[in-house]
Amino acid sequence: MEKVIFHIDVNSAFLSWEAVYRLKTLGGSKDLREVPSAIAGDKQVRHGIILAKSLPAKKFHIQTGEMVGTALKKCPDLLLIPPHYDLYEHASRAFIEVLQDFSPCVEQYSVDEAFCDMTGTVELYGPPMVTANLIKDTIYKNLGFTVNVGVSSNKMLAKMAGDFKKPNLAHSLFPNELKAKMWHLPVSELFFVGRATTKKLFSLGIHTIGELAATDPAILRSHLKTQGEIIWAFANGYDFSSVVSEAPRQKGYGNSITIAFDITDKEVAYQVFLSLSETVAARLRADKLEISVVAISLVDCDFNRYSHQCNLNSTTNITEEIWRAACKLFNQLWSGVPLRNLGIHTSKVTESMGLRQMNLFDLNMNYERMHKLDVAIDSIRDSYGDDAIFRASFLNSSLYHMAGGISKEKRFANYEGVTIE
Ligand SMILES: [Mg+2]
Repeated sequence: MEKVIFHIDVNSAFLSWEAVYRLKTLGGSKDLREVPSAIAGDKQVRHGIILAKSLPAKKFHIQTGEMVGTALKKCPDLLLIPPHYDLYEHASRAFIEVLQDFSPCVEQYSVDEAFCDMTGTVELYGPPMVTANLIKDTIYKNLGFTVNVGVSSNKMLAKMAGDFKKPNLAHSLFPNELKAKMWHLPVSELFFVGRATTKKLFSLGIHTIGELAATDPAILRSHLKTQGEIIWAFANGYDFSSVVSEAPRQKGYGNSITIAFDITDKEVAYQVFLSLSETVAARLRADKLEISVVAISLVDCDFNRYSHQCNLNSTTNITEEIWRAACKLFNQLWSGVPLRNLGIHTSKVTESMGLRQMNLFDLNMNYERMHKLDVAIDSIRDSYGDDAIFRASFLNSSLYHMAGGISKEKRFANYEGVTIE
């Protein structure tokens, strides 16, 4: 039987969710989706970044990931709304639950995107496009926000179809529709083709997905290695990965963050690792555990993933020690390619004994002092919140000082002093 795969994507997720919350829960009457508005991190800080925007804001060419200052120059009346992560988690869960009513096999792909395997559901709901519209309308009726649904026989094509005209639409992209619906698109629109790859393809005279599909894969392989073969297969509509519904990932002692801009600078990467070390080490200390293996992961703009790990001489849960190990690994691993996502993962977890094997090479590190410092910082954050104390290096930084974990203040939006129209 031919597979039927759906990709469901919430339209302007963070903004839509806030809009619905204001309308339905806070009793507002102004729909943020109908005015130029954007969710932006820390609007007091001009370094804040646009996280999501409404369609009217898009008409002013406002882009996700750009600085608030730049966005305000394009549209001085842009309504800025702080992020509300707790709400996003709730809305995301409700969204996935609706999908689970329709399919036993749902794979959450990100906070606002999922794949559903709908093979064999024709008897239940009707033909695929009828079902796609039913899911779309059910989500709107029950939850109040719109989604786009992409329909095909594999995940990659379904995701491509999900990115066609928005909002609130269902599109199909079956293999026999590639020529009509996908091959005329610029090659940069293909899944897995980032900026660096687009440049390379342009230099080979390949501008559309159709031209890529018609290129000899051996030529692509010689210029782009394995990725060349993968994107050639995608351009021709082949993707053999299946939808995997997985149990919620077990919380390990690791953390990663996707940055809204490309990291091209070593110092910025160190800063990101520091904020990740803060959260990972704090969790270890809270659970009275130590680790002896530190690993880092990097994802570049073309979604290539790299990782590297090392064994420490002694077990630890000291923020600075984990951070130093991560920076050392980064120096060994990074080739200079622009990065989108950085992560720290720790393992070989043991109970904290409060003892430390002194080592000849450790003489210039005062572990006792670093440990006391961490304990003091933890107790201040416990009493007064995560933002009560942070390292001075974050003072003029657009990066949050505890990456991955979300501070209480940011998790629960404060509507005091906010007029809900
Ligand atoms: Mg989305």
